[in-house]
Amino acid sequence: MLNILFLAAEANPYIKVGGLADVAGALPAALRSLNFDGLEREKLDVRLVLPLHRRIKTDALTTPPCASFCIYKNGNKLSVNAYKSNIEGPPTYFIEGFPISNAEDVYSSNGDVDREKYTFFSIAALELCRILNWKVDVIHANDWHTALALYSARTNKVDHFFERTSKLITIHNLPYLGGEGGNVFQDYGITELNDEELPAWAVKQILPMGIWAANRIVAVSKTYSKEILTPEYGCGLHEYLNKRRGDVTGIINGLDQELWNPLSDKSISNNFDLPTLNIRNKNKSSLLNELNLSEDPSVPLIGMITRIDFQKGIDLAIKAMQCLFEKPWHFVLLGTGDPYLEAELKQLESEYPDKVRVLLRFDNELSHRIYAGADIFLMPSRYEPCGLSQMIAMRYGCVPVVHETGGLKDTVTDGENGFLYKESDPLEVMEAINKAMDIFKNRREWLSFQKNGMRQDFSWEKSARKYAVIYKSLTRKYSAGGKI
Ligand code: ADP
Repeated sequence: MLNILFLAAEANPYIKVGGLADVAGALPAALRSLNFDGLEREKLDVRLVLPLHRRIKTDALTTPPCASFCIYKNGNKLSVNAYKSNIEGPPTYFIEGFPISNAEDVYSSNGDVDREKYTFFSIAALELCRILNWKVDVIHANDWHTALALYSARTNKVDHFFERTSKLITIHNLPYLGGEGGNVFQDYGITELNDEELPAWAVKQILPMGIWAANRIVAVSKTYSKEILTPEYGCGLHEYLNKRRGDVTGIINGLDQELWNPLSDKSISNNFDLPTLNIRNKNKSSLLNELNLSEDPSVPLIGMITRIDFQKGIDLAIKAMQCLFEKPWHFVLLGTGDPYLEAELKQLESEYPDKVRVLLRFDNELSHRIYAGADIFLMPSRYEPCGLSQMIAMRYGCVPVVHETGGLKDTVTDGENGFLYKESDPLEVMEAINKAMDIFKNRREWLSFQKNGMRQDFSWEKSARKYAVIYKSLTRKYSAGGKI
């Protein structure tokens, strides 16, 4: 049995802000259920540890805590309670303590609050393993929030508990480096990093410290794993990452096949699959009804479900829709985020009250209805490490129009199951939407785009197996006496 400590800031079904929750909610289960043949029989005991964010409902937890202990801040004790989930699935632990309950949400508006919260979380999660005497073979961290666990496990010389533990980091979004730890590092006894290979500014930043500590670095798609080696996408770390390119791999995220299944989805009124695709239209009708938009089957409904962020190309979408104002279309956007972009979207809605609906909230149920009812799914992301929304859209027969970048490039094939454009330019976005709308007029051709998308296999199995191979290769180095 290999013991894998899987750390993330968010995970389905407990708490979700974006795609990380989809990944952390599905990958541990996929890893646990892998079947290995022949010599590769060793099973994976993957356990997930999450912060007990304020929003997490405590009725999902077993009480009393499964462990209570302290970690140190400036020599003073800080209490930690760890709870276990009582929901069926991979063993899941929640870390509770003041720096976590003090933060307003999963990600707060105050960087300092978040840095302390996730530093506390990373250290407490390691301590939990010591308390449980659960010997970890691999720590798998995700993004900057949990990167310090890798750094701390590698640099902590006080005990030998993690001496033989390998470290892997998955990069879901490189530009979020976590910022400089500064006082927080001193307070929590995180030692300084001295490494001349990393740029001087990066040795104090949380994500680069985690990358430095990791034995393997996984980017969430093949294309993104190459993009982060370039100055354009490498966020100043490209030279360092190039030096370590042998440790960098791309593994595409999968989709939770139960959660995202149009045939059994309880959030949509008319379930369908490939053979019953004709039923899908009813979902479009009820969605238009719900949005108070007029119903006309010949008018395409364009959907977006997204964090409202510059990364997601919201401004490009607005300009493209404005350029297309003379054409018949409906547009619905569900999302929350940047207040300036939210205001711009509301402006678009007031310019075209018969065409546009902008819903500024997080609404999981409605997101399912949009995937099941919209004709075209727009993702004009400037960069997109993996992107899950385009995969969900395809599984639900909604045809994606996307920028040819990162995971979008790896999952959407132009002219087969979707439409790709090359440059982040409003005119290119507009032309791609226009092309999709032209093909939409031809019922048979459109059906083949939908069907090609629905036939794609986005299950986790293949990708989970790739992670398992890495875990095993890392741990094998140890058993062969090698140094990690
Ligand atoms: P990212 O992780 O960068 O936000 P992804 O495309 O990988 O983008 O994943 C986004 C996930 O979050 C999808 O499951 C999408 O449906 C969901 N999502 C984003 N915004 C909302 C929202 N406002 N309401 C409901 N679900 C949302």
